[in-house]
Amino acid sequence: MKLRVLGCSGAEFPGHNPSAFLIDDSLLLDAGTVGSVLSEDEQWRIRNILVTHSHLDHIRGIPLLADNIVVSGQTHTVEVIATGEVLSAIGTHLMNGIIWPDFTVIPNPDTPILRYREILPEDSFTIGEISVQSCPVNHTVPAVGYRITKGKSSLLYTGDTGPTEKLWELAGDLAALIVEVSFPSDMEEIALMTRHLTPALLGKELAKLSKLPPRILITHLKPQYHDRINAELAALEIPGIVLLSDGDVYDL
Ligand SMILES: [Zn+2]
Ligand SMILES: [Zn+2]
Repeated sequence: MKLRVLGCSGAEFPGHNPSAFLIDDSLLLDAGTVGSVLSEDEQWRIRNILVTHSHLDHIRGIPLLADNIVVSGQTHTVEVIATGEVLSAIGTHLMNGIIWPDFTVIPNPDTPILRYREILPEDSFTIGEISVQSCPVNHTVPAVGYRITKGKSSLLYTGDTGPTEKLWELAGDLAALIVEVSFPSDMEEIALMTRHLTPALLGKELAKLSKLPPRILITHLKPQYHDRINAELAALEIPGIVLLSDGDVYDL
């Protein structure tokens, strides 16, 4: 399984783009960054978008990708896969015909640019050769994490979450864990209020696992606190922790 990091920040600055991970060139895991880093051909290869929650920094690439597809005369359909609450938020508040066109009926309802595929918060399903399990996490809006498995390789992505429990039941036998850390440890109050993690909170979450994954890939930092968070993560002295950067590629 090839993992390409398109964006791994909890904000937007030059060189720091919001959350998006491309798996095997065709499955997009969150869509905070698409057209600003992918060539046209790379954009056309995206056939499925798996969304963790409705926050703008995880969905904002979808409407612009849809526009690129139709303007270029491409005729394929991209499936947007998420829970009903997330799909309803996207349809009601983003591609609602006011903020942006509703690409689930363009160019026509039978062969649209986008098709919404609803899953349950706790679900198991397949996307081609990839099998996926979803599990609710602890965020300010309905949000899930995903375990993604291809062949013998599994990846667990938390999406945005504060301290959580059930998701860790899916953490067995992983090639990698992608876990969020948004704030430095002395900002724990704001982290808990906005349902995010700090390095200290991450340490407590990882202590819930019976076995640590070989790779613990950290995402969703506020870039303003990059150096502090980096130092605090190093001080945890947990093997396998790596701070992701935009553009990183892993063969898992
Ligand atoms: Zn976010
Ligand atoms: Zn969020």
